[in-house]
Amino acid sequence: MDGVIGRIIGRVFNKNWKGKAVTDKNAWLLSERLLSCIIKEKLGDPKVFYYILLDIGRSYCFRINPKCRVCPCLQVCSYAKNLAEN
Ligand code: SF4
Repeated sequence: MDGVIGRIIGRVFNKNWKGKAVTDKNAWLLSERLLSCIIKEKLGDPKVFYYILLDIGRSYCFRINPKCRVCPCLQVCSYAKNLAEN
């Protein structure tokens, strides 16, 4: 798993991976479930979803000082919600 993808998924779903997402079994399980939902619900091409996440990581979800206020994931992101509450 790409580290950026792991960071976004972890933040949105409020998951703390053990070590890096790339080596965490739960990170892989969650991403597989997301992929299954995308396919099952016919939400679009999973490759496009992947590239969208990479764009979000490159444009908003920085490791340090993410730009949550302007991120398209703001409404569904646990990390951003926690920031707003604290
Ligand atoms: S809202 Fe913030 S933490 Fe959540 S995905 Fe966007 S930039 Fe990352």
